[in-house]
Amino acid sequence: MNWEDFRHWGRRAADWAADYHAGLRNRPVRAQVSPGAVLSALPSTPPESAEAMQAIFDDFEQTIMPGMTHWQHPRFFAYFPANAAPVSVLAEYFVSAIAAQCMLWQTSPAATELETRVCDWMRQAVGLPDGFTGVIQDSASSATLCAVLTMRERALAWQGNKAGLAGQPQMRVYCSAEVHTSIDRAIWIAGIGEDNLIRIPTQGPNRAMDATALRAAIAADRAAGHLPAGIIACTGGTSAGASDDIAAVMDVAEAEGLYIHVDAAWAGSAMICPEFRTLWAGVERADSVVLNPHKWLGAQFDCTTHFLRDPEDLVRTLAIQPEYLKTHGADGIVNYSEWSVPLGRRFRALKLWFLIRAHGLEGLREMIRNHVTWAQDLAARLDDTANFEIVTAPMLSLFTFRHAPAGVHDLDAHNQDLVNRINTDGRIYLTQTRIDGNLVIRFQAGAFTATAEDVAMAYDVITELAAP
Ligand code: PLP
Repeated sequence: MNWEDFRHWGRRAADWAADYHAGLRNRPVRAQVSPGAVLSALPSTPPESAEAMQAIFDDFEQTIMPGMTHWQHPRFFAYFPANAAPVSVLAEYFVSAIAAQCMLWQTSPAATELETRVCDWMRQAVGLPDGFTGVIQDSASSATLCAVLTMRERALAWQGNKAGLAGQPQMRVYCSAEVHTSIDRAIWIAGIGEDNLIRIPTQGPNRAMDATALRAAIAADRAAGHLPAGIIACTGGTSAGASDDIAAVMDVAEAEGLYIHVDAAWAGSAMICPEFRTLWAGVERADSVVLNPHKWLGAQFDCTTHFLRDPEDLVRTLAIQPEYLKTHGADGIVNYSEWSVPLGRRFRALKLWFLIRAHGLEGLREMIRNHVTWAQDLAARLDDTANFEIVTAPMLSLFTFRHAPAGVHDLDAHNQDLVNRINTDGRIYLTQTRIDGNLVIRFQAGAFTATAEDVAMAYDVITELAAP
């Protein structure tokens, strides 16, 4: 394909995308293929000769698309959303066409400076004070890894990268059992070791870390000669939206001189609505905060905003400057590759800029407020329906429930079967989780194009398929 062919196919791709989205409600949300079906439909050897674009496109439609789960479906109620607003898809199209490597200021000055500007827009949008500086990472997992590496280096007086961890006391990091597994992975990769990730018991309806137990765990570790390094708090945990009392945890972190990172990967987007900010009260005292505009807000995956109270700590942890990456003669510039684990960087700021401008914060707030209201309505309806029980009340737009008719002994198997039947039916898509050991059904409303009717349909499908 040359760029003249691209002109034709680019137009067709735009038409295809608009048609695809217009017809999404007619497709089953979750892919309905069996494992291996797509693989076996694909030739086992690569083509030696060029193939016509039309043939490639036909196979894309006939072989690939039936094997896709539709994350942009308005009735996608599983996991968390990965919203791609049309305007952010458009921005990604431009980014793909430019195909710049945005690792250093001089390799893409506008990308760097736009990133600085939109991160500060996001900081203001979610109500973080102006002491925070933002950077865009590929994922919350990466941002959390950066935070763990920084807490490790800070605790080791910046010697860990050079000397490793051998001979050091056991380093300890604290969190609740409600945090996402990206925290475990960051601990593994940083060489701290899972056994040194100390799970603090939770309490109350928010399933928040018990600050008294946290203080006691740190004291016990210090007495045992271990080295407490940091705390990872969460606002909006993945299973049920668990949210730590950040202010209480901060009191401990400050008294103990520990680094604190707040994972608000999903719920952080809701903080553009001032009324939800009580959920993370105290966050302004954290060392770093991560939230994913690529989840709820509508900036196409991938786009994670990572806010730092002192970016120098991160740069000190990650910066490495071989001669071939030096930017002689450019003063006062930022090279964001020194703020992240990968060197190469996509131009992720463009879609966030397009998104915020095209919808305005007020437009995005309206979407989030609707989702929260609709999820609360659905929870209330299920709560009023015989044999359904709400297990965890709505945390923003996320709640869990289960079907518990009399006479069913294995409720876990019964509810897993219900989830499977709902997803095979295809009109909606949701998933299960475990709460206090029990298998429950998890629901979140968050699709960019969802309507009140889409959420109401979830009630119809759930109750219809649960009926004996
Ligand atoms: N933190 C929380 C609370 C999450 O729910 C998730 C993913 O769902 C992550 C972190 C990881 O996000 P990412 O896929 O951006 O690494």
